[in-house]
Amino acid sequence: MAKLTGTCWCGAVRFAVEVPFLRVTNCHCTSCKRISGGGGTVSGRARTEDIRILEGSELITTYEPAEGTKKSFCARCGTNLFGGGWPESEFTSVRLPTLDQPFEGPIEAHTYVRSLAPWEMLPDDGAERYEVRWP
Ligand SMILES: [Zn+2]
Ligand SMILES: [Zn+2]
Repeated sequence: MAKLTGTCWCGAVRFAVEVPFLRVTNCHCTSCKRISGGGGTVSGRARTEDIRILEGSELITTYEPAEGTKKSFCARCGTNLFGGGWPESEFTSVRLPTLDQPFEGPIEAHTYVRSLAPWEMLPDDGAERYEVRWP
């Protein structure tokens, strides 16, 4: 196992995660659009126990929607850090844009493609496509 580190935009929150990720997904659902401000989120799935918060844990704020899993972000800069129910869940979705080392791919699946926006195009990347969640 190797270790990657991640940082929010303002630099206050830093974490480490053991890789390789269990799966890498680009989620196009309407919740991910709202929290990303764009087409959705790109996440690597890790065991929650393999994530360590190095700095700024007091700034990590968690929102639990009526449907779906908890999402966590930096309260200072708004960077979307984790999904999937962190910190209580067995697995966490680590948002790849937070990683300090560029993720070289590949993305394995596009999920919630039924929620593609009219201005959104799927890349011809050979990844699986699912109408809703990864089965
Ligand atoms: Zn921040
Ligand atoms: Zn989503």
